[in-house]
Amino acid sequence: MKQTKKKLPLRVYLAGAFLLFSAVLLIFMWLFQTVLLDPFYRMVKTSQVERCANSVVHNIERDQLHSMITEIEEQNMMSVSVYETTDNSFKPIYTPDRFLSFSSMINMSSVYDYYQQALDNGGKAMIKSSGTKHTPPYDMFSFETPLERKNTEMLACACIVENKDAEYFVVVESEITPVTSTVETLKIQLLIITAIIILISIFIAVITARYIAKPIQDTNKKAKQLAKQNYNLTFTGGVYKELCELNNTLTYTAHELQKVDSLRRELIANVSHDLRTPLTMITGYSEVMRDLPNENTPENVQIIIDEANRLSALVNDLLDISKLESGTVAMHNCVFNLTLCIKDIFNRYAKLIEQKAYNIVFEHSGDVYIYADPLRISQVMYNLINNAINYCGEDKTVVVRQSVFENNVCIEVIDHGEGIEESKLEHIWDRYYKVDKEHKRAVVGTGLGLSIVKNILLQYDARFGVKTKVGQGSDFWWMFPLATSDTPNLNSINT
Ligand code: ADP
Repeated sequence: MKQTKKKLPLRVYLAGAFLLFSAVLLIFMWLFQTVLLDPFYRMVKTSQVERCANSVVHNIERDQLHSMITEIEEQNMMSVSVYETTDNSFKPIYTPDRFLSFSSMINMSSVYDYYQQALDNGGKAMIKSSGTKHTPPYDMFSFETPLERKNTEMLACACIVENKDAEYFVVVESEITPVTSTVETLKIQLLIITAIIILISIFIAVITARYIAKPIQDTNKKAKQLAKQNYNLTFTGGVYKELCELNNTLTYTAHELQKVDSLRRELIANVSHDLRTPLTMITGYSEVMRDLPNENTPENVQIIIDEANRLSALVNDLLDISKLESGTVAMHNCVFNLTLCIKDIFNRYAKLIEQKAYNIVFEHSGDVYIYADPLRISQVMYNLINNAINYCGEDKTVVVRQSVFENNVCIEVIDHGEGIEESKLEHIWDRYYKVDKEHKRAVVGTGLGLSIVKNILLQYDARFGVKTKVGQGSDFWWMFPLATSDTPNLNSINT
């Protein structure tokens, strides 16, 4: 026997999915908070320094330059120096107040150095430096000595601004704080966060699995009963949409199966009744003819032939319905004379009309042609006329009316019998459905008729229906497009 791989419960898959998601999340957090923190910080700092230098450059000759620089320094923890450069001398216009003397005293070599780099770089340079090379202005908010700042990394943006009358030199500097200690702190925090997230993931997975899986298990338990042919079931439960829909579908399926099952039982009862009756007749008459030489008459032989025909018609109907429903019937369509076809069918009822005084009338005004399979259309007509005869009531009259509306022909089969209750109407086209559960043996034909009619007409997308009133009779109708010159193989008209 084929070994099926053991499937894991939903909660395992859910926990796996949650853990995977958490792992991806944590990997990104680790990556950004540790490995990439330093390069990110430097990138942000560089653009910040450059942005501040640009705003100083743009406002270099404005009156509010000093207040603007103070603001920049305070808000961004940066130091700004502005010099007017004439004849290779640097005249300070702005240097951080507190360190003015100190800065100008010990930093002029750096300023020259920056100036040179800016000059080499086309007027603007981003410069990184470390150690004691640079001293305040960056220290404007602290009183540490330059020596204490020995290993400090500095970032500077140096810009040469050439105006009409003067040339200026702007330096914006900022300290680059080492992030190593921050990274260490973040690592510890991330470890704790990782542990918490894993626990939360498992917890949520278990809760969610219970929430999702439990109702599915209930539904599954009930569905197993369906397999055991217990169709009287209603599937309920489930708080989420998909399961509610599944439950509704299963409830519908159970009801449909119940219907089909009861129809199947009915069919077996009916068909076996229909099969048994002609078989009994055939056996009975044959035995009589064998035992009593006088009974060997053409009439008795005819009864045997009729009953055999009835049997074969029943078997054919059963085959037809299953073929039609499975869509395996090949339609041999051609243009043919529908009026003539109906007249032909009428001829076959001649004996019935004569023997049982039925009055079957065909009302029409001229021949009409349609493009369809003549055999299938005859089947439609047979079934409708048979039903009309079976249910026609006292007056024993059946009217077949052919009328033409625009490019369509409408065929009606009318009787003045018992009619059909409105509540039963939607079911009469179902296979095996009988309004009268007491099975009535057809005068002509075998039953299953309307289902065959429906299936054939549906194959052609034809419209059909019934107008009926209880006690007054029924009018079964169907409509079909007339064959036109565009209709295929009009040349091979079949009359
Ligand atoms: P059957 O005639 O063998 O019962 P059908 O499928 O032809 O099977 O018809 C289904 C049901 O529709 C019938 O049982 C009958 O109750 C109802 N019916 C069909 N035709 C007529 C009619 N002309 N008048 C009244 N009831 C009809």
